[in-house]
Amino acid sequence: MSKKPSKLWIIIPCYNEENVLPITSELFLNELKDLIGKKKITDDSRILFVNDGSKDKTWQIISDLAKSDPHYIGISQSRNRGHQNAVLAGLMEAKDKADITISIDCDGQDDITAMEAMVDEYHNGNEVVYGVRNKRKTDTFFKRFTAESFYKLLNSMGAEVVFNHADYRLISARVLKEFAEFKEVNLFLRGLIPLVGFKSTSVYYERHERMAGESHYPLSKMLGLAFDGITSLSVRPIQMITMFGCFVAVMSFIGILWAIIAVILGQTVQGWASMTCIICFFSGIQLVSLGIIGNYIGKIYMEVKHRPRYIISERTWEKNDE
Ligand code: UDP
Ligand code: MG
Repeated sequence: MSKKPSKLWIIIPCYNEENVLPITSELFLNELKDLIGKKKITDDSRILFVNDGSKDKTWQIISDLAKSDPHYIGISQSRNRGHQNAVLAGLMEAKDKADITISIDCDGQDDITAMEAMVDEYHNGNEVVYGVRNKRKTDTFFKRFTAESFYKLLNSMGAEVVFNHADYRLISARVLKEFAEFKEVNLFLRGLIPLVGFKSTSVYYERHERMAGESHYPLSKMLGLAFDGITSLSVRPIQMITMFGCFVAVMSFIGILWAIIAVILGQTVQGWASMTCIICFFSGIQLVSLGIIGNYIGKIYMEVKHRPRYIISERTWEKNDE
C-alpha cells in the first residue's frame, strides 16, 4: 500500500443530535486538519454527516456547517431508518469518491484522535481497521455488563463479531466495492464487514461518555440488535431448536416405554399435576421455537422485496460536485 496521502471520508450518522453536533463537529474538523497537516490524508478529504431523519435542528446545523467550511458535507435520509442504514448510506456515497472511509458516531464517545492510528494501519497495508474499546470505565456497570453479554451471546450463536468493536472502523475503497455486493436489507455491519475479508487489524482506544444528548440504544433496542445480528448472520438458533427437538423426542420415547411397562406391571402412573406441567412447559418451548423460525421467515419476506435500504432526499452539494 502506498504511503502517499489518501483521500479520507469520515462518515457520521446523526439522529436528533442538535446538542452534541456543534461540539463534536469542531473536533472532527480539527482531527481532519491535523491529518492533512501531517500529509497522511489529502486536503480534499471530507467529513460527511448523514442526517437520519432527525426531528430537531440537526439538518439545519449540518447545512450551516457545510457553508462554513468546504471539508464539511452532508446528506439527509428521507426519514429515520436507523443507525446501520444511515452508516450504509454514507459508505455508499463515499464508495467511488474516497480512498478510505472511517465511520464513527457523532456523540464523541469514540476517541476521535484514534483516527491517526487507523490511517497509519491502512498505510501499513490493512484494508479494514477496527476501532476497539479497551476499557469501559465510563460506562455504568449495567451498560458494561449488558454490552459484554451482547458480544458473548453473538459469538456463541455463530455471528462472528470483533469483541468490543461497534461501528468505529476504517474501510478501504477496495473493501467497500466488494461490500456493495452484499445486498441484504437486514443490516448488521459489524458482522458483515468481517465476512468481506481482506487484511485487517484493530486499533485500541478508551471510550468516553456521551458529550451531550441521550443514548438512542436503551436495553430494548440493544436486545433487538443482538437478536437481529444473530438471525442475520447465523442459523444456529434453528439448529439448536432441531437438536432440542431430537433430545425431547428421545426422552419422550423412553418415557412412553416406561409408562407402558408400568401399566403392564399394574402400577398405573400417578401424577396429573406433573403431566400438566410438562404439557405447559413444552407448549411454551414450541411457541418460542415457532417464533424464532417465524422471525427467519419474516426476514426472508423482507429480503425478497428488495426495497431500497436508504433514500437520500437532500445533499449539501450539487450532484457531481464532490
Ligand atoms: N443514530 C442514527 N439513527 C438512529 C439512532 C442513532 O443515525 O435511529 C446515530 C446517533 O446519532 C449516533 C449513533 O447512531 O451518532 C449511535 O447512537 P447512540 O450514541 O445513541 O448509541 P450508543 O452509543 O448509546 O450505543
Ligand atoms: Mg453513543
